[in-house]
Amino acid sequence: MKYSKFEEKVWLSSPTMHGEEQEFVQEAFDTNWVSTVGANLTELERILTEYIGCNYAVALASGTSALHLAVKLADVKPGDLVFCSDMTFAATVNPVSYEGGKQVFIDCERDTWNMDPNALRKAFELYPETKAVIVANLYGTPAKLDEIQAVCQEYGACLIEDAAESLGATFRGKQTGTFGTENIISFNGNKIVTTSGGGALLTDCKEDADKVRFWSTQAKENFPWYQHEEIGYNYRMSNVLAGIGRGQMLHLNEHIELKKKIFMRYQEGLKGLPISMNPYLPYTEPNFWLSCLLIDRESPVTPDQIRETLAEYNVESRPIWKPMHMQPVFQERHFVQVEEQAVDEDIFARGLCLPSDIKMSAETQDVVIDMIKDLF
Ligand SMILES: *Cc1c(COP(=O)(O)O)cnc(C)c1O
Repeated sequence: MKYSKFEEKVWLSSPTMHGEEQEFVQEAFDTNWVSTVGANLTELERILTEYIGCNYAVALASGTSALHLAVKLADVKPGDLVFCSDMTFAATVNPVSYEGGKQVFIDCERDTWNMDPNALRKAFELYPETKAVIVANLYGTPAKLDEIQAVCQEYGACLIEDAAESLGATFRGKQTGTFGTENIISFNGNKIVTTSGGGALLTDCKEDADKVRFWSTQAKENFPWYQHEEIGYNYRMSNVLAGIGRGQMLHLNEHIELKKKIFMRYQEGLKGLPISMNPYLPYTEPNFWLSCLLIDRESPVTPDQIRETLAEYNVESRPIWKPMHMQPVFQERHFVQVEEQAVDEDIFARGLCLPSDIKMSAETQDVVIDMIKDLF
């Protein structure tokens, strides 16, 4: 082997803690607010509304639970169709099934690797009654959110923005997680900031925020006894974990800067190879959560070759999200595309997520870049 194996694994994206997180957690212990009420929760929600620029944030147990409640707010009923990003993590689309809805998967475009507004329009022409759309901002890159918003408005559909991967990214200067009627973020361990596990629903609508608080804490009506008129959920975030989030939010901008440096270093280092990086629109600022490469069609090198080589040296990389319409569990769902060959199948075949951990040193990254270069 030309290089020596890294003693410590080089991760795709792992949690980065700073110290303040533990102080806020300690505060929860000291005051004995260790359950689902307390100052960390209130503060985290306030910080989120301020940072993102929305009226309400409700901290929940996960991004997935936030999406589930967003789907409920959109009034998705058994048999209802929901248009969903196709190339994304399964968590974007699973909540539709929790409510008995049926996903219709929408192909992506090449400019951002996100939902293609033209394919979305075609889907509405096929199924104009569709009530909801879920769009994800892949790897921290904003989708063509203005166009998607416009198509949704035209057809009177509710837009749910899955900003789980894009916290801190902006579209024409506006934060992602504000373009939908309902929006969600995730604090899962591999995301740009984490609470170990957690998420939040973001909205400008007070009734919706109140409803989500109500559903997420077992739908207890305002009676002395436990009175239930609706089905509830145990989806609230713990005040202990909210403390981690409070500490992490102090470092979100710093994490974004480091992620961007990693992206730029790949872009520079891989220049001259038959490779391009995951693209973004000039009027958007991604959070650069994951750096990905796309190998030119003519090149004989495959993403698997790169992935397997890096793995030999203890470096983690990962295939692009396998499109949902290719997943066995969704094989009966419709898929809408506008190009002859599905764009996302093509990106899946030629793309790879590169190690983007902000604790990776520049020296380590340079070795990773050299390893990739050697394959070409
Ligand atoms: C991580 C992620 C989610 C789910 O978030 P959890 O907090 O892990 O439940 C949803 N959508 C996308 C696109 C994600 O990457």
